[in-house]
Amino acid sequence: MAKLPIETEKIIEQYGPSLNFPPKDGYPGRDEPDKVINTHCCFCGMQCGIKLLVKENKVVGFDPWMEFPFNEGRLCPKGVQRYLQNNHPDRLLTPIQRIEGKGFSPISWDHALSHTVSEIQRIQSAYGNDAFQCYQAYH
Ligand code: SF4
Repeated sequence: MAKLPIETEKIIEQYGPSLNFPPKDGYPGRDEPDKVINTHCCFCGMQCGIKLLVKENKVVGFDPWMEFPFNEGRLCPKGVQRYLQNNHPDRLLTPIQRIEGKGFSPISWDHALSHTVSEIQRIQSAYGNDAFQCYQAYH
């Protein structure tokens, strides 16, 4: 059974979750985006079409993209909330590494990549190529 490196309260203090977090200056007006960007929801392979409303280079909302042939403006519950995560305080912007007894520390992308490669190689040389598997979680 995996053991947490530090108490749960400290992890939450550092990385969230910050539930029901309102933006610092309140929710921006939906009627004044600088730009509307037709793009795709990035959460899963369905790639539903979505119109992101952008103000001062930040996503502030979305509109349905009715003409997009696959989803015709509809989004699932994950896609509906996706735009809120761009500027959410819990969003990780750098890799972090677990250090026993100290919790988590930010590390560089180069360090994260080389550490990941060396750990995959260590596991595979000790237990065989099929001993390593990757699991991707969206939330
Ligand atoms: S809206 Fe839902 S189904 Fe569509 S791409 Fe996003 S996560 Fe996938």
